[in-house]
Amino acid sequence: MQSVPSLYIVPTPIGNLADITRRAVEVLESVDVIAAEDTRHSAILLNHLQIRAQLLALHDHNEQQRAATLIQRVQQGQSVALISDAGTPLISDPGYHLVTRCREAGVPVVPLPGPCAAITALSASGLPTDRFSFEGFLPAKEKARDDRLAELIDDPRTLVFYESPRRLLETVQAIARLYGERHVVVARELTKTFESFQRLPAPEMCVWLAADDNRCRGEIVLMIAGHRPEADALPAEALRTLQLLLAELPLKRAAALTAEIHGVKKNALYKWGLEHTSVCSSEDEPL
Ligand code: SAM
Repeated sequence: MQSVPSLYIVPTPIGNLADITRRAVEVLESVDVIAAEDTRHSAILLNHLQIRAQLLALHDHNEQQRAATLIQRVQQGQSVALISDAGTPLISDPGYHLVTRCREAGVPVVPLPGPCAAITALSASGLPTDRFSFEGFLPAKEKARDDRLAELIDDPRTLVFYESPRRLLETVQAIARLYGERHVVVARELTKTFESFQRLPAPEMCVWLAADDNRCRGEIVLMIAGHRPEADALPAEALRTLQLLLAELPLKRAAALTAEIHGVKKNALYKWGLEHTSVCSSEDEPL
């Protein structure tokens, strides 16, 4: 591959080495220099791919100064790839200053699509994906963490966080205290041997996590269902009826029958159905 002098943003696997894309390998093979968060860590991946490019460290503490060097190299006709330890650079990882300065200097920035723990977790969480908010890491200090959680309490979007295994239980306890019965999903060790997903109301999740240390181990994406008061208020029996009827009927009809049986709002059932089922028939015109 002949690379145009540019900064390439190259996602790398978040656990399973087979998740590197063909284009990512081609770019990493062709560039003059690879800027990496931790060169020793990235050397393992690059050795595995038999790539022998020059590696340069770019991390939170030297990004400003390294950005100038890297921009100069692109302006002199070289190509640079930016990788992080895992996943997509800039997503809770270094690279923001470098990309901003490239944009300011008119240096082409070429992003490659690829692994990202937040999106991987969200896609299999079973929580609504139509709207979501990526919140990165919560503050480590208790007061700041609780303030941030309190700010987000009425957000209707699915909330996606990165969380450290050491803080997971305390964070979920804070969520239970502030958000009550709201559902949370813990996605652990994505793409690896012990990948797991658990979805429970926050108070039950605290009990489940506390019951076994292994449930807090590894790399974690924590998600909170958005605030959707209508759906939250639907009785469990009505949702059960709706789910049974949905196996046989289009959503519109199933919602109408469930509303009649349980005396709940048809619109709320219909909305719940849209968010929790992937199949809608042509009969499912909006109510
Ligand atoms: N840039 C990365 C991305 O695109 O996902 C994220 C980097 S951030 C420093 C690392 C955090 O991402 C971990 O602490 C964890 O919360 C999450 N993470 C990374 N790999 C993961 C995995 N395999 N399973 C679950 N979470 C993961």
